[in-house]
Amino acid sequence: MASSRARPLFRRSEGSRAGRLGGTRKIPRPGESAGLRDDATPEHGIEAELPTKRCAWASGEAAIRYHDEEWGVPVHDDRTLFEFLILEGAQAGLSWNTILNKRENYRKAFDGFDPERVARYDRRKISQLLRDPGIVRNRLKINAAVENAKAFLRLQKEFGSFDRYIWQFVGGQPRVNRRKLLRQVPARTAESDAMSKDLKRRGFRFVGSTICYAFMQAVGMVDDHVVDCFRYRLV
Ligand SMILES: [Zn+2]
Repeated sequence: MASSRARPLFRRSEGSRAGRLGGTRKIPRPGESAGLRDDATPEHGIEAELPTKRCAWASGEAAIRYHDEEWGVPVHDDRTLFEFLILEGAQAGLSWNTILNKRENYRKAFDGFDPERVARYDRRKISQLLRDPGIVRNRLKINAAVENAKAFLRLQKEFGSFDRYIWQFVGGQPRVNRRKLLRQVPARTAESDAMSKDLKRRGFRFVGSTICYAFMQAVGMVDDHVVDCFRYRLV
């Protein structure tokens, strides 16, 4: 299903410009909205001249903000982990920017990604979601989100938290890679294969190895920022 994706997250043609990072932006500080192009405001005048290098897949305001603030930052909160599991599954076959642009709609439609509530969705709720233009209206993906919520709750029960379960696939610690170029970033790894296999065995859907690897990158189980990205080893 996901094997056609060249690599998770940046997928598509940006790959040919691997390593060409660029743009002139101020370095974001914690709490600032890093994706906004507010370089020109007087109080940031000096910083505005500093060039900021970032992974080339991050193009467009939403993707830049996501790259600068979230991508690769270790997540240990179960609700957020569930959100990324659902969003990465919804992304299959589409661009990540499409999903980012629908993210707020997803949060509203899926009760803030509360797995307890999603697990209880009935046919009526699913039909309502299928009519919601703010999300990806794909019956298989929506049904998968509900089934995944149920499987997620079972894992929480068994392991105490989904966090404890999922991080075991990287031994509990983020794997910091040293990628010089985006094309060196793989679409899947032995770890994502193992994660995919185990999730499938436990009843999850839309959890192919490529989706799992994109998930691992998103929640910081692996750090795949290229080495000259300003976020490398900062996350
Ligand atoms: Zn980066």
